[in-house]
Amino acid sequence: MRAAIAGQSLDCCVLLVDIVPVANAGKTFRRVLKARLLRAALGAFGRPMPADTRGLVVIAPHPDDEVLACGGLLALAAKAGRAVAIVYLTSGESSHADCCDVGPSQVAREREQLAISAAGELGIGGASLHFLRLADGAIPTQGGEALGPADASVAAIIASVGPCEVYCPHPLDCREDHVNASLLTQAATRQCGADCTLRFYLTWGYFKLPLLAAVRLLRARPWSLDIGGVLGAKKAAMDRYCRQLAPCGQPYVGKLPPGFVEFFISGRECFLDRP
Ligand SMILES: [Zn+2]
Ligand SMILES: [Zn+2]
Repeated sequence: MRAAIAGQSLDCCVLLVDIVPVANAGKTFRRVLKARLLRAALGAFGRPMPADTRGLVVIAPHPDDEVLACGGLLALAAKAGRAVAIVYLTSGESSHADCCDVGPSQVAREREQLAISAAGELGIGGASLHFLRLADGAIPTQGGEALGPADASVAAIIASVGPCEVYCPHPLDCREDHVNASLLTQAATRQCGADCTLRFYLTWGYFKLPLLAAVRLLRARPWSLDIGGVLGAKKAAMDRYCRQLAPCGQPYVGKLPPGFVEFFISGRECFLDRP
């Protein structure tokens, strides 16, 4: 009983710590507040993540999603000596399409290099990184019965890791590429033949999900992972992505909404078992 009460108090403190810093966020107040409330609620209602010694595969629609959503998880896995694979479905080459005339191939090259250096900050070497170079903004939606080429590639990488946890965007993650990445990964894990556990993460969904959909997530048995011990490594990895600027002066990952990156610098990451 005492432990339960202490746990509740801790969750309340975490909730306040999450909310208070956004009190002066101006125009972004409501959006960031909603995102922080959702994450705090997922954490408060969530179960502590069990330690897993199996391999870890993270599927990222674009280079930066893996760090934003799973940077702490990846750093902890590397520290524990688990086999790790990160799959970048696209290289994010469209992030300056409506911004300036920096070419998509240059953006892709830069974002892949940034992915390599960000993974290095998490303790993960280049041999663990897989760039599939699907078209940014057009991740294929095939899946289900027959494997498409993209599903087959992801399934082969998962199989090469062996028994593992697989993390991909939640189907409610609000961006088309993220939703399609989720469907593709679900199809790949059904077909890969490896003993794997599939879990889902949110990025854009924290900010854009309608309230009722967000409440539904709270009933989906979320997991809460304490990443306090590796938060410095996650922040260093995020800095790699955010500090490398294109000639237009914006990061190669594109112009992200105010408060978006900061939101992910938190002592916890939350995951869901199923849609
Ligand atoms: Zn993305
Ligand atoms: Zn630009």
